[in-house]
Amino acid sequence: MTGGGGGYTPGDGPMAGVLAGMPEVVTRLLDEHVPDRLGRCTACRNAGSGMVWPCTLHQIATRAQALRADYPR
Ligand SMILES: [Zn+2]
Repeated sequence: MTGGGGGYTPGDGPMAGVLAGMPEVVTRLLDEHVPDRLGRCTACRNAGSGMVWPCTLHQIATRAQALRADYPR
């Protein structure tokens, strides 16, 4: 295995898989983590960090939604 691709994004971490099983949390994250007019995440800004949107949490939530869509019933 050679892992020099460098294509890693936070949304591909294990958190997305965990959140995929918690659709209510995903919905809430996508609802709260929205960009303000300066392009920063509203929820993360309130938490004290001036994260540029899409923030890590929003990326993870987006990834989790995609994972859910991929899950067989
Ligand atoms: Zn955020």
